[in-house]
Amino acid sequence: MSVLTKKFTEPDELGFFGEFGGAFIPELLRANVEELDAAFRTFRQDETFLNEYRELLKHYVGRPTPLYFSEKLSAQHGARIYLKREDLNHTGAHKINNAVGQVLLAKRMGKTNIIAETGAGQHGVATATVCALLGMNCTVYMGEIDMKRQAPNVQRMRFLGAEVVAATSGSKTLKDATNEAIRHWINHPDAYYLIGSVVGPHPYPAMVAEFQAIISQEIKIQLQELEGRNTPDTVIACVGGGSNAAGAFYEFYDEENVELIAVEASGLGVHSGHTAATSAIGSPGVLHGSMTLLMQDEFGQVTEPYSISAGLDYPGIGPLHAHAIQTGRAKAIPVTDQESLDAAMHLTRTEGIIPALESAHALAALNKMTFTKDQIVVVNLSGRGDKDLNTYFERFEL
Ligand SMILES: *Cc1c(COP(=O)(O)O)cnc(C)c1O
Repeated sequence: MSVLTKKFTEPDELGFFGEFGGAFIPELLRANVEELDAAFRTFRQDETFLNEYRELLKHYVGRPTPLYFSEKLSAQHGARIYLKREDLNHTGAHKINNAVGQVLLAKRMGKTNIIAETGAGQHGVATATVCALLGMNCTVYMGEIDMKRQAPNVQRMRFLGAEVVAATSGSKTLKDATNEAIRHWINHPDAYYLIGSVVGPHPYPAMVAEFQAIISQEIKIQLQELEGRNTPDTVIACVGGGSNAAGAFYEFYDEENVELIAVEASGLGVHSGHTAATSAIGSPGVLHGSMTLLMQDEFGQVTEPYSISAGLDYPGIGPLHAHAIQTGRAKAIPVTDQESLDAAMHLTRTEGIIPALESAHALAALNKMTFTKDQIVVVNLSGRGDKDLNTYFERFEL
């Protein structure tokens, strides 16, 4: 994967994409992060490692996922609209692509203990799943409140053999779980800390993007087969931290004719005070170890984010996305709770596919765009909606 000219997705030596990225970490973590960086530099070029990763994606995760032509959406919007079916992966979303890559890497580094934090539990479930498969000990930190809200995922993780530890400080949600996981890592430098999105200190953002790049690598091959060309005109993906978007955009960042649309959750509205539309109202600052765009008040305190969708309920975005949006390479579109709910219902009733609420945000962006008849549009369907059925029933009063 080495390249001669610097790719958009390749950070500089210090882990910066333009002005965003880097590794803003306590001195106590410096050695851990450098060890990880060295290992990743080695194994990203190691054919045996890469083959093991690709084999597991194929035979365990179920890849390649289909690129499905939606006749209904295409007719409705006057374009050629495809859905990249990440919802069909084992465990129901794209997150397992990254979990497979990082647990394999941890194994190569001689690690036996994996720690992770999770908000809604999707990343925790993916991590616990791969740890069960590869015989690793797994500890997942989760906010006490999130554990109550997401009880089925807590049960899944425990049944898979993971230890789920409640974070009881602060607001008892994702941010506090992250703090606890980092504290554990400082005290147990032999553990492997598995981050679930393109966030955190270098090398995590670049590494997670690379483990998700399989999404766009498959899109290229599939479009060649279906359309006789290997680039779409437009790729649309939702952005929480931004890992499914980074994977869906990865191969196209350097193809300047491909339009990249990053969909953010605007909750009750961009300026409602109840939003997670980071690039719309955020500003540069340090969050979870990297310089990025984040929602903060005038004193630099991180603002509590809000979205109906747990996976998009995050006050920042990964540094690669901050860079892409700031330079105009990607365009951000905000989508509200209600717009995503309506898009979820629409896809369910027209295509028989129940999307995750996160993915429904990407679908809703179609309604805010204009297309030409031959325009090839790929919407990344990051996950399935089983986990959101309660919300759908409540909100539609079914
Ligand atoms: C976690 C999650 C997301 C948001 O995470 P990203 O890192 O932004 O991709 C989106 N969709 C689904 C289905 C998820 O589980």
